[in-house]
Amino acid sequence: MDKQQRSSLIKDFVMKMSIQEFITYAQDRQWIPTVFKCEICHNFCAQQKNKLSYIWYCKQCPKQYSILYGTYFYNSKFDIRLLSLIAIFCVSELTVHQVARLLPVSERNIYGYFHQIRQAIIASQLVQLLEGEVEIDESLFARHKYHVGRHRKTMQIWVLGLKQRDSDACRFFVVGNTRTEAVLLPLIKSCVKNQSVIYSDKWRAYFNLQSHNSYVHYTVNHSIQFVNRALMPQNILIHTQGIESTWNAAKMHFRMMRGCHKENIQEYLNYYSVLKQKHRNVEDLLDIGLNFNNYYYEDVTQDIVTNQTQ
Ligand SMILES: [Zn+2]
Repeated sequence: MDKQQRSSLIKDFVMKMSIQEFITYAQDRQWIPTVFKCEICHNFCAQQKNKLSYIWYCKQCPKQYSILYGTYFYNSKFDIRLLSLIAIFCVSELTVHQVARLLPVSERNIYGYFHQIRQAIIASQLVQLLEGEVEIDESLFARHKYHVGRHRKTMQIWVLGLKQRDSDACRFFVVGNTRTEAVLLPLIKSCVKNQSVIYSDKWRAYFNLQSHNSYVHYTVNHSIQFVNRALMPQNILIHTQGIESTWNAAKMHFRMMRGCHKENIQEYLNYYSVLKQKHRNVEDLLDIGLNFNNYYYEDVTQDIVTNQTQ
């Protein structure tokens, strides 16, 4: 069974459920909260059924909130089952075009929901700093051709890549045409823990890594050798083969996704780092992407947890 057939079975299965059934299911999966605090008086609300759906009802205000308030599903013209299907297909790596053929939703809308889900997954997963031994490298990701008057110019899209050696953790930053120290150093600092060992080529932007930050920095001269065996204290292997093979895999993934607009390369690369880092299955990714989808709720649920343990 191929992806398209499997997706159409999932669609039939989900659309057979009633919206009420699906809300219960989504609450079991924590996509919709099961407890809710009033935003005004901060009291816990009661769940109530009205004519159309469920609501949160505050006994003090008495303010009412949609049961979907603050979630990925809130304020949409599409029903919760369709929105869930879009999310499922997003984490299953279907293209926007493929989803538009399966569901009665425009490519433009699907694209917006894909973006929202990926952003939620990225934000919750890429918070940890790289540490230990980290390889860094830049790679030319794409050439973007555009016309200026009669001239055709090419804009190069360089990407800075970082990979932790003892794990699959990696980060990417689109830097466009500029690979200067002023651009690269702050990016490295933003995602690599101090005291880490950094391996790179001899690109001049990296010269001050050791002096400006508390990193230990080893370089390999690509024009002479791929593995620098001359300067090896202990068992340190000076090479950047880890990040180089990561590049190849990332570019392959990129081609499978049939490329994307240059404005979205950063998001795709961020998402790719999550997929690579966690070896997550589709179910996990779906839960991460939909668990309230909104950080407002993190505060609320943390509050509730503290209240419960008191
Ligand atoms: Zn209230």
